[in-house]
Amino acid sequence: MAKVLILVDHASGKVAKTAGELATFAKRAGDCVGLILAPEGQSQALSEQLSNTVIGQVIAVESNDFAKHGQGCILDAITQVVEKVKPDAILIPSTSAGKEIAGRLAIRLNSGVITDAIDFASDLSATQSIFGGSFTVSSKVSSGIPVITIRPSAIEAEVGSSAPAFEKVDVLISEKGKLVTITDSKPAVKGGRPELTEAKVVISGGRGTNGDFKPVEALADLLGAAVGASRAATDAGWYPHTHQVGQTGKTVSPQLYLACGISGAIQHRAGMQTSKTIVAINKDPEAPIFDVADFGVVGDLFAVLPQVGQAISAKRA
Ligand SMILES: Cc1cc2nc3c(=O)[nH]c(=O)nc-3n(C[C@H](O)[C@H](O)[C@H](O)COP(=O)(O)OP(=O)(O)OC[C@H]3O[C@@H](n4cnc5c(N)ncnc54)[C@H](O)[C@@H]3O)c2cc1C
Repeated sequence: MAKVLILVDHASGKVAKTAGELATFAKRAGDCVGLILAPEGQSQALSEQLSNTVIGQVIAVESNDFAKHGQGCILDAITQVVEKVKPDAILIPSTSAGKEIAGRLAIRLNSGVITDAIDFASDLSATQSIFGGSFTVSSKVSSGIPVITIRPSAIEAEVGSSAPAFEKVDVLISEKGKLVTITDSKPAVKGGRPELTEAKVVISGGRGTNGDFKPVEALADLLGAAVGASRAATDAGWYPHTHQVGQTGKTVSPQLYLACGISGAIQHRAGMQTSKTIVAINKDPEAPIFDVADFGVVGDLFAVLPQVGQAISAKRA
């Protein structure tokens, strides 16, 4: 049976969600081993957050050098754990930090890397959605240990029944790994809503909102969703560019994507086409967004969204 090592990302604060998703993919191939790289004294508590995942074993490395010196130390640690665990594949979250680790790790291991995968199969092949979502490709690393980054929310995390076995190991951090020192870092200012690329539900507004995102935000808050926007909306200054979904914005792959007053231009679809269920609300029955939508409502978003909110609230009551 294959063994898959997953890198547990605790920077986002959503340890169980991100690691749970990677573990669900890993279990398809065999046993899942989680790797926690944590500051001194913190790995046990982080490991306890994984008790509802399907991770069988956790290997923890503690060092304050990870935060102080960054990627060089992280790579030293991962490489030594890989030598110990001898995994058949390594899965890493597809964040910008994750992709940097993956590329550098693949060089160290003399193997291949696949980034932004949306699926992972038991034969260790990975699926990507490429060229703006026009093609879905399946590929396999042909030599060495495959290093694969997986997009957040690409799968619903399976719930496990027992806490993973915990083992703390020591590694040697090289002087080369400490060549960079991080002198200052400030976390990005976040609102109360989930991160766009991590959210299970994304509700986006386009030019059809005419600049009024209140109904979009109201439904997002009701569903605990993130808010996205088309480029027409961000270019008009109606919503921050950091919320833009599409070719020149963010790529999202939530369980549910609700497009409100968005026509469905190819550049927008490039960023949301791999969402599990797509719902579109648009006044124009010919709008191209309906070509990729699983469900569609032809109507005015200002009339439809409040009704959706009322129906959800009534059902919950
Ligand atoms: C190089 C390049 C990169 C790009 N990158 C991106 C990108 O990353 N993301 C992106 O989104 N776009 C991108 N674009 C722009 C893209 O081509 C479209 O112009 C843009 O997506 C259109 O945004 P929209 O759908 O909100 O507006 P429109 O195309 O104007 O559509 C508005 C829609 O709202 C509907 N509508 C109007 N009023 C209502 C109402 N009251 N209720 C319901 N429906 C209503 C209309 O019927 C219409 O379908 C890019 C373009 C280029 C050239």
